[in-house]
Amino acid sequence: MQKFCDNCGAELKENSDVCLKCGKYVSKTGNNENVVENNKLALAGFIVSIISCILPFAGIIGMIGAILSGIGLFQITNGNEKRKGLAIAGLIIGILRVIYGFYIIINLNNSFNELMIFF
Ligand SMILES: [Zn+2]
Repeated sequence: MQKFCDNCGAELKENSDVCLKCGKYVSKTGNNENVVENNKLALAGFIVSIISCILPFAGIIGMIGAILSGIGLFQITNGNEKRKGLAIAGLIIGILRVIYGFYIIINLNNSFNELMIFF
């Protein structure tokens, strides 16, 4: 979402709090109070976690899903973005998928081929 300087009307860079044209300080919440954006990583992490559950040998994909969701959740908690529920769901599903992958490994003999099941 674009922001504009209250003083001179110049376009502001994203997350900038000083106008580059006139030098006026612009509060970050000043002219984008009602803008609450969807967190992209939360959705990406959730989708990746779901995909890891559909695929049979996808522990590593579940791990990626959990990491993406975790970063998304961190961004949502520290910012002003939506999709917290989705981020938490993606994180939990991803972690469960990783635990399930390790469970398979532990319950089989640790041969190379069986380790590959996880990945
Ligand atoms: Zn300005």
